[in-house]
Amino acid sequence: ADYDIIKSITDLREILQQTESSHQIILNLPLERLIIHADSQRIEQVIINLVTNAVKYSPKGDKVIITGAVINNKLRISVQDFGIGIQPDQLERVFSRFYRVENLASHMSGLGIGLYICQEIVNRHQGRLWVESTYGEGSTFYFELPLNTPTN
Ligand code: ATP
Ligand code: MG
Repeated sequence: ADYDIIKSITDLREILQQTESSHQIILNLPLERLIIHADSQRIEQVIINLVTNAVKYSPKGDKVIITGAVINNKLRISVQDFGIGIQPDQLERVFSRFYRVENLASHMSGLGIGLYICQEIVNRHQGRLWVESTYGEGSTFYFELPLNTPTN
């Protein structure tokens, strides 16, 4: 269905801030409505998975920044943390099913399936999902989705 992704993320942040109270979840969103044609629950699941990871792999009290922007007529959402980061040779592998990086955070619970699911959902919406990271400094996960109405 068509819905306003900006309102959806704003509402979702309220819930996420309550469940992930160890971190400061900051929103950086455009003021206008942005309508996308998507399964709102699935897209919310992508954001929840990314924020859950950001919280899991960064120190308590840190900021997690959710940004929304329109770039080249596409919606781009990013989730940024200032945590452990990912080494360059692991960057592509984190999207594989059941893959988890072996590091000091390996004791954190998880199946290694969150990012795989995110990628499946984004791909099914004609979008793409990728990551940029600096080991020891933090990570930013991005996804892009087609916008319903082109903006100029
Ligand atoms: P779950 O199935 O509960 O999501 P998970 O978080 O381990 O478990 P993914 O979300 O698929 O699995 O992430 C895969 C791996 O990628 C993680 O185990 C972790 O090693 C690495 N990773 C994911 N997000 C981050 C992040 N924000 N910072 C650093 N490493 C990350
Ligand atoms: Mg995860």
